[in-house]
Amino acid sequence: MTGHLDIDLTALAANWRTLAAMNKGETAAVVKADAYGLGAARVAPVLEAAGCKTFFTAHLAEAVALRAVLPQARILALNGLVPHAAADFVAHGITPILSSLKEIMLWRAEARGLERLLPAFLHVETGLNRLALPQREFASLREDPTLLEGITISTVMTHLITAETPEDDRNPRQRAALLDMAAHFPGARRSLCNSPGMFLGPDYHFDLTRPGAALYGLNTSPAQPAPMRPVVRLSAPVLQIREIQQGEGVGYGGSWVAQRPSRIATVGVGYGDGLLRALSNNGNAYFDDCPVPLVGRVSMDLATFDVTDIPANPGDMLVLLDSRHGADDLAREGGTIGYEILTSLGRRYQRRYIGA
Ligand SMILES: *Cc1c(COP(=O)(O)O)cnc(C)c1O
Repeated sequence: MTGHLDIDLTALAANWRTLAAMNKGETAAVVKADAYGLGAARVAPVLEAAGCKTFFTAHLAEAVALRAVLPQARILALNGLVPHAAADFVAHGITPILSSLKEIMLWRAEARGLERLLPAFLHVETGLNRLALPQREFASLREDPTLLEGITISTVMTHLITAETPEDDRNPRQRAALLDMAAHFPGARRSLCNSPGMFLGPDYHFDLTRPGAALYGLNTSPAQPAPMRPVVRLSAPVLQIREIQQGEGVGYGGSWVAQRPSRIATVGVGYGDGLLRALSNNGNAYFDDCPVPLVGRVSMDLATFDVTDIPANPGDMLVLLDSRHGADDLAREGGTIGYEILTSLGRRYQRRYIGA
């Protein structure tokens, strides 16, 4: 028996509305990586029904899959154009986010071939040094406007480096850099904020915000109280209870050794399901209101918990993720971030979509 993953679509829609109410501009939804592991095909239509009109994926293939469930929405692919993909972008009505002169050339050639204007976002470099139009290439665009012939830059965007740290002075610097570069595209909208960026205040919101994590219930701005509702609940039934003596080990390598006679509960969730191996001897589940420590190494399909002080029996459910112990908490125990916990959520769970 595997874990049960419940995804609360009502909470998801409420989170989008909360974020939308925080800013005057348009609020999009980032649904890359299968909506952070929650299932884009189920999540996106609920967000659309809540009022969302613009959706971001990472890859073209994700965008094309999304088009099948969102025939009307605006869909963008953050990772941009790859050679030979321009025709697919056009055929499926996907807007590319251009982040190099090479991509701009590909899109311009497509526009020329079709003899029509094609829309695009321009992703400008302001400090992340990851995927964005380098400053030098931005200068070339200014010197030679014909490079953008046939392309309508509808939005100029950039991505924050340290939005979860409000006092970091790179936030205002990136904001100023975006304003400066967007000024060369007078008709274009501006877009800066991911989820934590939205909590930096109205000066940062501009025309289009791009939250992902907060929609799915993560608290991306730990310095502030989280207004987001939890979306994910993960629980798993106890398969067996093992009574062991003081001095006996549990799991591969015997990395946990009982300091007293102990009761060990085994559940059918392992690192093959996204219960990270780094949680070995570190994570917690809950039984009623009691934290239950994960003991021994997490294996591929199983994990073991110390239930010596807890009246858990085979068939009882241990709760791995819920409102009191969410993905952010499990992430802290495993030395990572909630984003990685969500995007690692396994394919073997019995998934239930609730509400909406
Ligand atoms: C992933 C991503 C987002 C969403 O970020 P969250 O922190 O999940 O809200 C926004 N913009 C870009 C460019 C991204 O890559």
